[in-house]
Amino acid sequence: MSVAFLISCEHAVNAVPPAHARLFTDAALLTSHRGWDPGALDTAKAWASALNAPLFAASVTRLLCDCNRSPSNPSVWSSVTRALPPAEKNAILAAWHAPYRTAVGRSAAELLQTHARVLHLAAHSFTPILDGQRRNMDLGLLYDPSRPAEKSLAGAWRRELRRILPELRVRLNAPYRGISDGLPAALRKCLGEHYLGVEVEFNQALLEHGAFPALPVLQALTRALTFHEQKPGGGGGDLRLNGKLAYPAETSAARFRTKVSPGDSHAQRPA
Ligand SMILES: [Zn+2]
Repeated sequence: MSVAFLISCEHAVNAVPPAHARLFTDAALLTSHRGWDPGALDTAKAWASALNAPLFAASVTRLLCDCNRSPSNPSVWSSVTRALPPAEKNAILAAWHAPYRTAVGRSAAELLQTHARVLHLAAHSFTPILDGQRRNMDLGLLYDPSRPAEKSLAGAWRRELRRILPELRVRLNAPYRGISDGLPAALRKCLGEHYLGVEVEFNQALLEHGAFPALPVLQALTRALTFHEQKPGGGGGDLRLNGKLAYPAETSAARFRTKVSPGDSHAQRPA
């Protein structure tokens, strides 16, 4: 038994399905940080490729519906979609929200049948300046501090990040709290203690100086996991990872993966 990785990206693109294109008259809003998370999909792809892990990426802008919010949470809707008639909202959820979240959850459940743990990394990026305030951090690891395995993992990951990337300003449960409504929060309830979910939020300012260092950040994680494995007693502290760290091969979960459509004209990056 080993650890299986699962990678997701809820705010991967700012694509708009043709059926709802009439709603999106504000191109600037769509290309802003409110429309998507620049750089997050590249990061998710790099991690999934390095780990040979399943990758799920939402295929519409979060301004249509936010796949990182529960369907009952009012903030699943944006200023663009909040006032839509219930029938149209239900159609949007059925077409773009439920299939994505179900696919991720199903993949994690399948991986748990053959692995001791599933470690779900959800890639996100945040805007450097919010409400006029410059955010004084580069990377946030969001987890549930009431869950010992996630807490232990996040702490070990940050220690390794400080060693490998000392210039990176890393904070735990910032700029958001890991327990607030998000896909990992929903999956924790469904999948139990063997599911670990960490949202990884990086500052979009890093993109101004080149790409986010996705692979060194991942290297810090795998080192953190390895050190846990090597601790005396075999328990790996609170993490209690069983067996050897392994990069999972392709699984049957592949058939549930959400297709990313890079050719979509709305998915272009802002200039
Ligand atoms: Zn995001």
